[in-house]
Amino acid sequence: MQDFCELCGRDGLTLAYAPEHSHRGISVYVCCYCGLVQSLPRIDHEPHAANDAVRFGKSFRYPIALAALKRHAPSDHFRVIDVGSHRSDFLIALTDAFPAAEAVAIEPDERVAASAADKAELHVARIESLKFAAGTFDVIHSCHTIEHLAHPSRVLKDHARILKSGGLLLLDAPNIALTQAEDIVEEWFVDKHLYHFSARTLTRMVEAAGFEIIEAPDPRDRENLFLVAKKTGTSHAVDPDPKEVDQAVERISTYAATRSHNADALPAVAEELIAMAPKGVAIWGAGRIFDTLVLHGGFDPKKLTALIDPHLTHVAERHGVELSGPEALAAAAPGVIVVLTRGGTDEIAARAGTLVPGAEIIAFADLLGRARLKRAA
Ligand SMILES: [Zn+2]
Repeated sequence: MQDFCELCGRDGLTLAYAPEHSHRGISVYVCCYCGLVQSLPRIDHEPHAANDAVRFGKSFRYPIALAALKRHAPSDHFRVIDVGSHRSDFLIALTDAFPAAEAVAIEPDERVAASAADKAELHVARIESLKFAAGTFDVIHSCHTIEHLAHPSRVLKDHARILKSGGLLLLDAPNIALTQAEDIVEEWFVDKHLYHFSARTLTRMVEAAGFEIIEAPDPRDRENLFLVAKKTGTSHAVDPDPKEVDQAVERISTYAATRSHNADALPAVAEELIAMAPKGVAIWGAGRIFDTLVLHGGFDPKKLTALIDPHLTHVAERHGVELSGPEALAAAAPGVIVVLTRGGTDEIAARAGTLVPGAEIIAFADLLGRARLKRAA
């Protein structure tokens, strides 16, 4: 079956990149007309992996959406649908700020969905399988969900349909600009993300589905694309955009080159960590950078004093090492704490410093920078 571009609908998907360690054999394509980056094959449903670490970014994001809602809420009494409510961080904050709001939560992951049960009318389902009445919601909140959908254009059009006239869409998605990070080592094009938006392709998709952008993504935020849009109800076709196509191709080739260069330095990062082990080394962040350090850098995680991750509390271990929350840091008393996260590094470093006063705190970017210099010498 022929796959058409999800944004412009044309038959112009061009192979751009083959991700590493893809369990389902995905490839990344760029539409040669509009520049949307998309993975094929598209699947609507994949069982959750036991060590699913992909969605961690989500729990940091609700304050941004809530602040936007305070700026734009039609009144205190509105009807909101939270698409991909996950652990209900947004709903909890919402109930607090707007006690009169009426909420509907959609979350397909039964392991986390129940947390929304007392905050909202909960549907343990995927948004594509639900059919709400037209014009019945004032607000839709969708955070780090759209990139997982097989057909996001279709779902955005349905969002416009179920919103009241002038209703609000608060949308948040990962930003492909993050692939340009100088210290990128982890595979960014993971199996679960079928779409890889830039500010341009995301806003165009939202507009084409029948919305007007009232707050565009912040160009300084390289990690996330957060926007606020208002329903207009008029959907339209998407014209070609040669400049976006060039940028998409350029981004992917820069990413592949930087990542491969950085991966070569990982064994030296592992070596430095092992050399520090007698002082006691804790790692904060057991996500994809940690995985890459173990798998590519040959780092032996058993040498760690502690492995900390507040966002993977449903997972007991990672690469054979027990995972703990930040509260375990004080008792472990490491001499060194290494922050292995993509984003939020300064906040985590500050928190780690409070938990273990006197510990040396090192960001991954600095470790990698030193390892690259060592290799170059
Ligand atoms: Zn296209």
